Amino acid sequence: MSVDKSKIETAVKMILEAVGEDPNRPGIIDTPARVARMYEEVFSGLHEDPKKHLEVYFSEEYDQYVVVQDIVFHSMCEHHLLPFFGRVHVAYYPENNEVVGLSKIARVTDVISRRPQLQERMGKQIGDTIANSIQSKGVMVVIEAEHMCMVMRGIKKPGAITKTIYSTGIFKEDLAMRQEVLNLIKG
Ligand SMILES: [Zn+2]
Repeated sequence: MSVDKSKIETAVKMILEAVGEDPNRPGIIDTPARVARMYEEVFSGLHEDPKKHLEVYFSEEYDQYVVVQDIVFHSMCEHHLLPFFGRVHVAYYPENNEVVGLSKIARVTDVISRRPQLQERMGKQIGDTIANSIQSKGVMVVIEAEHMCMVMRGIKKPGAITKTIYSTGIFKEDLAMRQEVLNLIKG
């Protein structure tokens, strides 16, 4: 099933009414349709399998890890439907000479971030997608993000950055290697 835009339009119209707006006011009459198109875009990752971006790999003799740093992402917190955004850093250690195109790591991040998300789960999903798609000795995903639900409402703490680390295999077991990658990312 893809996104039901007319259902979103109806819902947004109801929200506008519920908060005391006039949904027929000229300035916002097209807002429900705009929001529906926006949600179709920002939640498009629900209807995509991120693994499809990792089906092709290159065979290259390389026995060290690879770090792709500063992949900018935007996602929507599933608790408040407010954005959270920041940077994803991914390390993976190829095994049996299976090396993936670097842009594919960014594509996997795009698919997984375009869903109602939690930062913690997002890191795990990115890591597991890579770990389950290519042969590797381990994968590590570090996410740094600012959550608008911490800024606009509730505790109201702009600038607070949430950092999460998810690691598998060698990056979980070998603490020196894990530290080396973290130092590299901090660079
Ligand atoms: Zn939230």
